[in-house]
Amino acid sequence: MKGNKIEVRSPATLENICELAVATAEDVAQAVSKAREAQALWQQKSFAERAKVLYHFRDLMIDHQEKIADILTAETGKPRAEVYGNELFYMCDAIGFWAKNAMKYVKPEKIRPHLLKTKKVVSIYSPIGVVGIISPWNFPLVLTLGEAIPALMAGNAVVIKPSELTPLSALFGVELAQKAGFPANLIQVLVGWGETAQALIDHVDMISFTGSVETGKKVMRRAAERLIPVTLELGGKDPMIVLKDADLERAANACVWGALMNSGQVCTSIERVYVEEPVYQDFVNKIVDKVKALRQGPSEEEVELGSMTSQEQLKKVESQVEEAVRKGARILSGGRRNPNFKGLYYEPTVMVDVHHDMEIIKEETFGPIIPIMKVKDQGEALRLANNSRYGLDSSVFTRDKKNAWKIAEKIQAGSVCINDSLVNFIIPGAPMGGMKESGLGRRHGAEGIRKYCQQKTVLVDRLGLKSELSWFPLTKRKADFFRRGLKLLFRSGWKNKLFAPSQTREG
Ligand code: NAD
Repeated sequence: MKGNKIEVRSPATLENICELAVATAEDVAQAVSKAREAQALWQQKSFAERAKVLYHFRDLMIDHQEKIADILTAETGKPRAEVYGNELFYMCDAIGFWAKNAMKYVKPEKIRPHLLKTKKVVSIYSPIGVVGIISPWNFPLVLTLGEAIPALMAGNAVVIKPSELTPLSALFGVELAQKAGFPANLIQVLVGWGETAQALIDHVDMISFTGSVETGKKVMRRAAERLIPVTLELGGKDPMIVLKDADLERAANACVWGALMNSGQVCTSIERVYVEEPVYQDFVNKIVDKVKALRQGPSEEEVELGSMTSQEQLKKVESQVEEAVRKGARILSGGRRNPNFKGLYYEPTVMVDVHHDMEIIKEETFGPIIPIMKVKDQGEALRLANNSRYGLDSSVFTRDKKNAWKIAEKIQAGSVCINDSLVNFIIPGAPMGGMKESGLGRRHGAEGIRKYCQQKTVLVDRLGLKSELSWFPLTKRKADFFRRGLKLLFRSGWKNKLFAPSQTREG
């Protein structure tokens, strides 16, 4: 039952790690008010000054990478190598990227008026204030402090509500951030469940939410009460299309990694595979061989897969697999909890004979499952790939690059990887986000920092005339002038009609 304490458990051993106090609505209000004070000073710092603190933070993360890996693996159960290779790599790279590029994206932009040449127009960006970040448990550093980096570079304060399952990484990250020289209260972490997150929405100036579609809708509803902006990075059911001319070996390797990395608990995991008939069996054989060779176990060992992170998620995976089998799916590998461990280990699983009436194909799974479908041609593959309420990431494998581009244009997803998978997430210059129910807004690229800003347009008169044509008084002469002007400027084929008498008044 929910109370005023959160018990953080290791999903790999099911042992209790620690207990933390839950932030009340009053705690949230106080935290945001303190963040507001800190932000007022932070926004006066130059980009170079902000970047300097971030670089120091990066050095401290590298110095403490062992401790970070201890904390992250303890609360998620993921392999240690993934902490260095994914979470820490992303953090360090993203800091360098935003430190170098933030100013480029949010510096004042001159706009040349196409008609009113007597005006100078500039669009400027200023920080939005206090940003609330609400995060899930699958990447406890990337989706908390990682998301905070562009917000901080833009001059904002951030208050983070990490997942109740994995709050320790963000708490330690903020400890390091303090040591790095960020002003007190500029970055804060509030521990709690949904209630704490809802209270956060009631106080901050903007919400950056990453999580499930269902919670995302609740976040948007609450934010609508105050009309504050929200960005929603939500779930996915990402399709992979393998055409008959694909490099099958590369496609199979990309599929196994793209579907099973972090035990498949990635928003952009490959969750449906459509393979053209002529290569279907070869592809399936390769996938089964590769999946059977994977090692699963405790995070500190040499393994590809650790435990899952959430008990609830594991039950969802079990129920989807059971339903699919009841409806005729066949399991070629895995398909059960790993009996060698007491924690939340689910074996990497390959399934065939799946179809679109099954939850495993319709709904996000967020687990280590590869469901593969045979399709007769690329038309069918594309139709099925687009037959989903989600639209986050996707991939297509073929040697015909021209054809791949055609598919990329038609696929209904925020990103498409051609002969690759998932890797778009770690390119901070490339906008990333969802179509359909996979979300609103983008992280990364220009949009990834401008969303943390207010945009303002400043217009300056250049000539200083005593009055302008459109100002009062409005005379008949002016009306006549405008009437003629409309024809002169906008009427199609004006060159022919301009001087024709019949066209000047009635035309
Ligand atoms: P979740 O939606 O259950 O929880 C996410 C966060 O929302 C948590 O911090 C939770 O405490 C909070 N929350 C719960 N109820 C709330 C409420 N009523 N109002 C506001 N906040 C509330 O998601 P999860 O199970 O932690 O994470 C898995 C989901 O996250 C998956 O659907 C996955 O696809 C998605 N995800 C998306 C991306 C992306 O970039 N698109 C990245 C990672 C994960």
